[in-house]
Amino acid sequence: MQEGDYKIIDHHYDVIIVGAGGAGLRATLGMAAAGLSTACITKVFPTRSHTVAAQGGMSAALGNMGPDSWKWHMYDTVKGSDWLGDQDAIEYMCREAIPAVIELEHYGVPFSRTEEGKIYQRPFGGMTTNFGEGIAQRTCAAADRTGHAILHALYQQSLKHKAEFFIEYFATDLIMDDDGVCRGVMAWDLATGEMHRFRAHEVVLATGGVGRAYQSATSAHTCTGDGSAMVLRAGLPLQDMEFIQFHPTGIYGAGVLITEGVRGEGGYLTNSEGERFMERYAPNAKDLASRDVVSRSMTVEINEGRGVGPNKDHIFLNLQHLGADVINERLPGIAESARVFAGVDVAKDPIPVLPTVHYNMGGIPTNYRGEVVTLKDGDPDSIVPGLMAIGEAACVSVHGANRLGSNSLLDIVVFGRAAAIRAAELVEKDTPHKPLDEAITDKIMARFDKLRNSKGSNSTASIRDNMQITMQQKAAVFRTGESMDEGVVKMQEIFESFKDVGVSDRGLQWNTDLVETLELENLLLQAQTIMCGAANRDESRGGHARDDMPDRDDENWMKHTLAWVNPETGKVSIDYRPVHMYTLSDDCEVIPPKKRVY
Ligand SMILES: Cc1cc2nc3c(=O)[nH]c(=O)nc-3n(C[C@H](O)[C@H](O)[C@H](O)COP(=O)(O)OP(=O)(O)OC[C@H]3O[C@@H](n4cnc5c(N)ncnc54)[C@H](O)[C@@H]3O)c2cc1C
Repeated sequence: MQEGDYKIIDHHYDVIIVGAGGAGLRATLGMAAAGLSTACITKVFPTRSHTVAAQGGMSAALGNMGPDSWKWHMYDTVKGSDWLGDQDAIEYMCREAIPAVIELEHYGVPFSRTEEGKIYQRPFGGMTTNFGEGIAQRTCAAADRTGHAILHALYQQSLKHKAEFFIEYFATDLIMDDDGVCRGVMAWDLATGEMHRFRAHEVVLATGGVGRAYQSATSAHTCTGDGSAMVLRAGLPLQDMEFIQFHPTGIYGAGVLITEGVRGEGGYLTNSEGERFMERYAPNAKDLASRDVVSRSMTVEINEGRGVGPNKDHIFLNLQHLGADVINERLPGIAESARVFAGVDVAKDPIPVLPTVHYNMGGIPTNYRGEVVTLKDGDPDSIVPGLMAIGEAACVSVHGANRLGSNSLLDIVVFGRAAAIRAAELVEKDTPHKPLDEAITDKIMARFDKLRNSKGSNSTASIRDNMQITMQQKAAVFRTGESMDEGVVKMQEIFESFKDVGVSDRGLQWNTDLVETLELENLLLQAQTIMCGAANRDESRGGHARDDMPDRDDENWMKHTLAWVNPETGKVSIDYRPVHMYTLSDDCEVIPPKKRVY
C-alpha cells in the first residue's frame, strides 16, 4: 500500500466499546443484553487486558465476616480520596457494590469461600468499620487471582449475549463532528493492516490507565492511556491527572506487584533495623493504612538511611510467619511472583519491595452514569454527546486524590454496568447514522500516515526512555515546586523531540514499531497533563505530596484540575471543576472534610 492510500471499511453499530478489560466487558455485556447492536474493539485479546493481573480483590460491604455497611465503605472511600472524590458517585458505587458482587457470583466468578460457604472477604488498606474505628473485612477475593476470574467470567457472558469483538484492532482517534458530538471511532486492524471506521451513537472509552508514562510500574506495557489521549486530541480535558498512586509493594528491581492482600492476611513491612516502622506512622491501621501513607512512610525510612539491601534502597515485606497453609490457599500467585522475580521463598525470607507506580486516579471526567463531561460555557457538568468513559481511563471521580485498594475492580464493574444502563436509555435501537464529513476521516488518517512515514533521527525507544525517567524523578512519591518546575521544562523538551521521531517499518501488518510510536504520542500528551497539573497544585493531598507544601488546602484546592493539551505544541492549559459535595439520596449524608489520619 502506498503513502496516503488507505482502504477504509465502514461499520455501523448502536454502541461501540473501546477496551475489553473489566470495565469494557461489563459495559459490552450490559449493552448487548439490552438489545443494542454492540461491538467491542480491543488492541489485545480480551483476557489479556490488565484487569487479568488484579490480585487482591474487590470491595463490597457484604458483611460476611463481621458487621459492615455501605455507608462505612462510603466514609472510607471519601476519606481515602482526601476529600477530592465526588460524593454522589461514591455513594452510588458503595451502595451498588453489594448487588454487583452477587451478580458476578451469578456470572460464574469462583470467589474464595468461608467455612459456611459465604464469599470470603479479607481486610484491605483504609477499610474500616463504624466510620474509622475498627478494621473491616470487605474485600471479596478469588484467592490472589480475582481480576483473572472476573475478566474470564465477563468475557464468557459477553459472548453469550452475542456481542461482536474486533480483537487486535488499535483505535487511533475519535470521530468528532463540528458540533462536538462523538460519532464513532477509527481503528487499525493490526493483522491485515486495514483501517476501519466504526460509527456508533455512543462510544465508550474503557482503555485503562497510563502507568507506562513512568519507568517503574506494576501495569502492563499496553497501559498507555490511548483513549484518554484520543480525548485530548478531540480538544477535551482530562481531570486530576497529577494524582498517581504508588503501590507500596512492587518487587524491588522488577516492579511486579505484590498485592496489598498480603498485608491484609497479616504480612508486614520492616526496615534495616528489623523494625515494624508503620507502627510509628499509622498507630491504628499500621501496615493497612492507605497506600499513599504507606508509600510515603517507606520513602522516608529509605531517605533517612533505614532502607535494606547493600544500597539501603528498599524495604522488606515479611510473610514467613503466615505459614505454608495460608500462603498456599490464599496467596499462591504471590509465592510464585516472589520466586520468579526476586528469587525468594516467601516461607523463609522477606520479599524486597519498593513503592511503584500502580494506578491513575485521574482520567476522562464523567458523571456517575459514565457520560463524559467538560467545562463549557461556565457549566462544569456539560455532557459531551455520544461519548462515555469508564474504568481506569475515567475519572468519575470516586477515588479523588487517592484510591483505596480493591475499589478499582469495584469501580470498573459498577460503572461498566451504569454506562450500559445509561446507553440503553439514550440510544434507540437501529437509529440510522447521520452522514459524516469526509474531512474528519482525512484528518485522522493524515496523522496516522505522517507517523507511519516519519523519518526523524530520534527512536521511539529513546524518547520513551527520556519521558519515563523524567516522570519517575520529577513527579515522584514526594514532590517539590523546584523538582516539578524542572520536570515541566524537561517534559516540554521531550515532547518537542517527538517531532523528530523516526519509524523504520513502513508496513501496515503487525507493525509494532508504529504501534509503539502511536502509544508513545499518547503517553507524551498525558505526561504533559500529569507534570503540569502537579506543578500547578499548591498543596499536598492524597497521592500528590509536596515536601515544600505539606498541608492540604481545602479553601483554595478542594477542586478538580482540568487539563487541555494542544496536540501540536504540547502546551497545557488548566481550569477547574468543583468537587461534588452532595449525595444522591436523602438517607445519605455528605461527609464533611476533616484531617486524614490512620
Ligand atoms: C498488577 C495489578 C494488580 C491490581 N490489583 C487490583 C486489585 O486487587 N483490586 C483492585 O480493585 N484493583 C486492582 N488493580 C487495578 C485494577 O486492576 C485496574 O485499575 C482495572 O482492572 C482497570 O480495568 P479497565 O477495564 O479500566 O482497563 P484494562 O483492564 O487495563 O483494559 C484496557 C483495555 O483497553 C484496550 N485498549 C487500550 N488502548 C486501546 C486502543 N488504542 N485500541 C483498542 N483497545 C485499546 C485494551 O486492549 C484492554 O482491553 C490492579 C492493577 C494492577 C496493574
